[in-house]
Amino acid sequence: MRQIINNWLKNSHLSKLKFFSATVLRENCFLCAASRIKNHGLCEACLKDLPWLPANSCTKCSLSSGGQVCGSCLSTPPYFDATHAVFLYNYPIDALIQRYKYGDTVSLSHTFGQLMSEKICLVNSQENIDLMIPMPMHPTRLKQRGFNQALEIAKVTNQALNKNNKTKLDYKSVKRQTLTPPQASLPLKKRVKNIKGAFMVNADFSGKRIAIVDDVMTTGASLNELAKTLKQAGATHVECWVIARTLPH
Ligand SMILES: [Zn+2]
Ligand SMILES: [Zn+2]
Repeated sequence: MRQIINNWLKNSHLSKLKFFSATVLRENCFLCAASRIKNHGLCEACLKDLPWLPANSCTKCSLSSGGQVCGSCLSTPPYFDATHAVFLYNYPIDALIQRYKYGDTVSLSHTFGQLMSEKICLVNSQENIDLMIPMPMHPTRLKQRGFNQALEIAKVTNQALNKNNKTKLDYKSVKRQTLTPPQASLPLKKRVKNIKGAFMVNADFSGKRIAIVDDVMTTGASLNELAKTLKQAGATHVECWVIARTLPH
């Protein structure tokens, strides 16, 4: 399967065609071109091979843990109350996310959003959530990239969940006010400093239960800072919904 996916990732023309047929015509798996697919564009075999998050992960931060909550969350509790990650940030999810962020495959948001909604249904989390807030992007970054990857995933997730649920998608009440260097380029301590005070809220979140949506959770510094800002604005519960969780090296 690795070979097939590598070819897919390398060959952008082919991938676009396959992806088009998978997401628009919904005929073939966009990783292996098999014809029997589920509604997120992947076949049963490819789905089974993906690096799903193990069941024994910490309920607060999704890192692998011996108990319910990991040592790090016990000693330094984060501002968020829970994390639901669909995958580990391993092959081929890492490659797909890189491609999604820095390539032109905005349509992967359909696959990711659909998979996220399935995970949220599975853990039965959406029923208690009032608002979904995608990780905000600074306007300058948005201009550079052309789209906010978290917002695109959140739109699909919200639509997929919203058959009988009242969760609202809110991408206007929180702004990223400082243009910071990309978190990926910094070590952990600098990431925390880098993101401090980066978000501005122009709404009253009193009593609200909020899910922050993002593509990848690495150190969790950005998610933690946003969770802190939301709680300062009155939120009573904040959880993180992410596609993939990186593991510490
Ligand atoms: Zn497949
Ligand atoms: Zn933890």
